[in-house]
Amino acid sequence: MRIAIAGGGLGGLTLARILHRHGIGAVVYEREAGRSARSQGGMLDLHPESGQHALDRAGLIGRFESEARPEGEEHRILDPAGRTLVHHLPRPGSFAGRPEIDRTVLRDLLLDSLPDGTVAWQRRLVAAAPRPGGGFELEFDGGHRAGCDLLVGADGARSAVRPLLTDVRPAPVSIVVELTVSDVARRHPELADLVGPGNLWAMGVRQVLSAQRLGDGDLRVGVSLPADRDLDACRSKRGLLEMFAGWDPGLTALIEAADGPPAPHRIEAMPTGTGWAHRPGVTLVGDAAHLMPPVGEGANQAMLDAAELAGELAAEPSDPGAAIRAYEKAMFARIHPIAARSARVHAMMLSPTAAEDIVRFFTPKHAGVD
Ligand SMILES: Cc1cc2nc3c(=O)[nH]c(=O)nc-3n(C[C@H](O)[C@H](O)[C@H](O)COP(=O)(O)OP(=O)(O)OC[C@H]3O[C@@H](n4cnc5c(N)ncnc54)[C@H](O)[C@@H]3O)c2cc1C
Repeated sequence: MRIAIAGGGLGGLTLARILHRHGIGAVVYEREAGRSARSQGGMLDLHPESGQHALDRAGLIGRFESEARPEGEEHRILDPAGRTLVHHLPRPGSFAGRPEIDRTVLRDLLLDSLPDGTVAWQRRLVAAAPRPGGGFELEFDGGHRAGCDLLVGADGARSAVRPLLTDVRPAPVSIVVELTVSDVARRHPELADLVGPGNLWAMGVRQVLSAQRLGDGDLRVGVSLPADRDLDACRSKRGLLEMFAGWDPGLTALIEAADGPPAPHRIEAMPTGTGWAHRPGVTLVGDAAHLMPPVGEGANQAMLDAAELAGELAAEPSDPGAAIRAYEKAMFARIHPIAARSARVHAMMLSPTAAEDIVRFFTPKHAGVD
């Protein structure tokens, strides 16, 4: 069986790795030119029951523990006046919680675990046509072609594989603006102290200013806004600072200190409850299957999808159709409540009462809930 995985993000690479451990080969077709073609973004906290579980299945949990930063779990929640509302301190050196790891480090860890040639770089899938005898004929940007018996769409938010299974399209849910303060401890020690070794969120009225310490010493600063705000106003530091007028200068210094111009992105999500009727020879994992508002679950669930799909394919090598059906049934049941909760938390973060809501959320009644 020839397995083609479209997309070499965390979902696609985890799938290829676990299949490889079961002796099942796959080719990952990735649109980027190489592993360092694009910044992979900030940190992720990997949850024991999903991201860490998948790494265990991938035989990489030991490497993860040597690369992860449990201290990155520390987080502070402030109000616009700079008052601390919540300060969470993890147990020193503990991997019991949700240790953070840089996305680049995690992706490299997965890439290094695959046999040479598993990833075909610079292969952006543009079309997949069903073949009369089953499977798909794949067409890539630039005219390359390949065939496969099973196509797995792990190609993220704007998946090219998804339309083979559903007409549902993602819709905008918010705007996230990204900035970087490089070498923060040396260049801006006051900001390093403000944020600490993990995350900071400052909750305003329908706007959030956040910052995250990366393992390489940079600080990633983020601004979250409702989807109806003007994207162009987010393209300059001055425009952003106007939105944060009246906030504590110690907080807005996070924007002022940023290295380059802000990078705004529209964040989209698929409707909660999205599913599809099984179609032989094709399925989806990760954001391609269930793009959710970003509140800490997407990458974890993408990796768990990969582990579960690989497990089903390894258990039913002679009947991939049954394996995919079993994977999809379990995945839909698992994802729907997580997607619903992610949508609720995301709406809460951008609500007029976000600061009070978030404090309530972090009281013991909710402890352990994402
Ligand atoms: C601002 C923000 C913060 C987030 N924070 C967190 C967090 O803290 N924790 C968490 O768990 N999740 C978080 N997420 C969600 C997380 O990033 C995604 O859910 C996760 O990356 C999904 O993994 P994936 O492998 O499905 O897709 P992706 O990571 O998007 O990977 C898809 C891959 O496919 C490639 N590709 C795309 N189209 C094609 C094509 N046509 N042909 C070939 N290749 C293609 C892409 O180049 C990419 O490498 C966050 C998301 C955002 C936007």
